[in-house]
Amino acid sequence: MTTTIEAKVARLLADGRVFIRWSAPEHISAVVRGDSGIWDVRLDNGRWSCPCPARVTCSHMQAVMAVTVPDRASLGNGIDQDHDRPGNRTDHDQAVTA
Ligand SMILES: [Zn+2]
Repeated sequence: MTTTIEAKVARLLADGRVFIRWSAPEHISAVVRGDSGIWDVRLDNGRWSCPCPARVTCSHMQAVMAVTVPDRASLGNGIDQDHDRPGNRTDHDQAVTA
């Protein structure tokens, strides 16, 4: 019975168990309701921390990372824009006729 950390992260997010208190560049305060407790996940000066017993980058931290955007604008790979769903146009047309 192995649960991958990716699956755990996905479940935390799907269940709405990740709560961001506040965030700023290089600083995040979040609460994650895990299976064994409620954890205070923090990002301080770019360093992540979680008080849970896991020594690695735990699912709590990864869940918060997944819903927050680190300062990667300088990479400039241009994937931020043009992310609108093209499939939405049909809805829009129907709204116009109605
Ligand atoms: Zn943790």
